[in-house]
Amino acid sequence: MTKIFNDPSNFAEEALAGFCDVHSNLVRQVPGGAVRRHRPVQPKVAVLAGGGSGHYPAFAGLIGQGFADGAVVGNIFTSPSAQQAYAVAKAAESGAGIVFTYGNYAGDVMNFGMASERLAAEGIAVENVLVTDDIASAPPSEVDKRRGIAGDFTVFKIMGAAAETGAGLADVVRLGRLANARTRTIGSAFSGCTFPGASAPLFSLQDGQMGLGLGIHGEPGLFDTDLPSAEELGRELVTRLLAETPEGAGTRIAVILNGLGSTKHEELFVLWGTVAPLLRAAGYTLVMPEVGELVTSLDMAGVSLTVTWLDDELEPLWVAPAETPAYRRGNTARESGAAAVEEAHDAGTDVAAFVASPASRDYARACVAALEAARSSIREAEEVLGRMDAIAGDGDHGRGMVRGIDAAAAAAAIALEQGAGAGDVLAAAGDAWADKAGGTSGVLWGAGLRALGESVANSAVPAPQELAAAVTAFAERVVQLGKAETGDKTMVDALLPFAETLGRLVDKGRPLDAAWEEAARRATDAAAATADLLPLKGRARPLAGKSLGTPDPGATSLAMLFTVMGPHFTAIPAKEPAAAQA
Ligand code: ADP
Ligand code: MG
Repeated sequence: MTKIFNDPSNFAEEALAGFCDVHSNLVRQVPGGAVRRHRPVQPKVAVLAGGGSGHYPAFAGLIGQGFADGAVVGNIFTSPSAQQAYAVAKAAESGAGIVFTYGNYAGDVMNFGMASERLAAEGIAVENVLVTDDIASAPPSEVDKRRGIAGDFTVFKIMGAAAETGAGLADVVRLGRLANARTRTIGSAFSGCTFPGASAPLFSLQDGQMGLGLGIHGEPGLFDTDLPSAEELGRELVTRLLAETPEGAGTRIAVILNGLGSTKHEELFVLWGTVAPLLRAAGYTLVMPEVGELVTSLDMAGVSLTVTWLDDELEPLWVAPAETPAYRRGNTARESGAAAVEEAHDAGTDVAAFVASPASRDYARACVAALEAARSSIREAEEVLGRMDAIAGDGDHGRGMVRGIDAAAAAAAIALEQGAGAGDVLAAAGDAWADKAGGTSGVLWGAGLRALGESVANSAVPAPQELAAAVTAFAERVVQLGKAETGDKTMVDALLPFAETLGRLVDKGRPLDAAWEEAARRATDAAAATADLLPLKGRARPLAGKSLGTPDPGATSLAMLFTVMGPHFTAIPAKEPAAAQA
């Protein structure tokens, strides 16, 4: 249980600020995360690790010479936003390119992907290296679907060391992917973990039970079993990993025995007493093994075992010196970089020059009211949505939605005050949602709302068909970004019926409010019907079976929001276009 916190929703930000203060000789806080205190004298590839908070020392604790150049720091167990990734990249970039590296989670893939597009458009060379070491998260035939857990540490370390030697972007990326292809991890949990301020753990295990194959966001294990002895546990972990020995592997391996947050080092040493002899008996030489807490899950009790099969290229990088706040190996030469440039970041937002008709401003007021209604209903449903997401996902859906809608409603109100029309108000709400919510649903809601706003004019109240087209634009953007299809058990299962029904009924001449109500009923039914589906996308996929019988959280919240926003979006009738004035 996390005992020390103020406002739980500020936990990650406050932790990052404290961390950056303690380690101010090595790191510097920047918008979106942290970077090394010193900038390199020569241009070097910037290796930027990232992901949610709650995994310390991953990821900010690994900033320093021989390791990461910076970390993009999301909220607890939640992907950072594309804006955060972009901002950290801009702060860390020194002319030789950027590589974002992170565990394979949909939210991270989308956010780092969007930041990469933006950086590339500015002419900055940028690549992404995904870590997929968790052998329990998908079968060997689907390695691309595996998530990244403690193998992050090895892969980031090897890339950081390569970048430190002056390797170019292509080489750093190649070595990172090679390291990932040769890294396997299996984990097991003995107890759940609890978000700061939460009244119950994300998941729980019966006393005396162990969940095998857990993820670092508390995704429950593949199966639960009686707690074995240390020796039985060690044997189980080693056997499962060696069964996945990569082709052409040599006999030298890097090994990490990792504690997940509240497992004592002494317990790990006892387990090591089984793991190391078994690996040696299998003919391996253990190269600079690590036993400790390197990638954690808040206060979870549990362990994971990682093996990286080394070769002549990877071994020198694995053993190379590193000096970071949380991890030190060998002697790094004193860093001779230029002193940090403390850029004065303008915290104030630009006051945009909005152009809108009075009618659109009236409609913008209705949009703000719609977002306020959405905010109340999501706040009420936060706990329920979180529990739904915890069944097969990571339990953060309620909190992520609250962060998103809070930011969206606030940004919309500010834009309205500055004279924005409805389109600009909705687009501003989308940008704020994407920036603050994190997680897969946050990216999708943010981008969807922006698309909605871009389709709504600032010159007039949208006609029913225009509003229906704008909702379709929302849906198309979500499908384009998330690539989910109907039946994949995602928010798309509620969104597409909504957009389709609204468009069809409006085309038939049904009054807008009645059409919207009917569409919202269809979306609500469709969301409920996802209970019978197996998730094929997102964090719930690896544990698809567990989610049978529970509706998809993202579909549920979407239907809820479209339902409560309806009366506001449909209250103000559109005038004939001729009546609209600029
Ligand atoms: P995360 O999965 O990153 O923890 P949330 O818990 O906030 O994010 O949101 C989970 C929801 O996101 C799921 O219930 C599902 O509706 C939706 N989702 C996940 N992946 C996709 C996708 N690829 N396309 C559309 N929706 C998705
Ligand atoms: Mg989630």
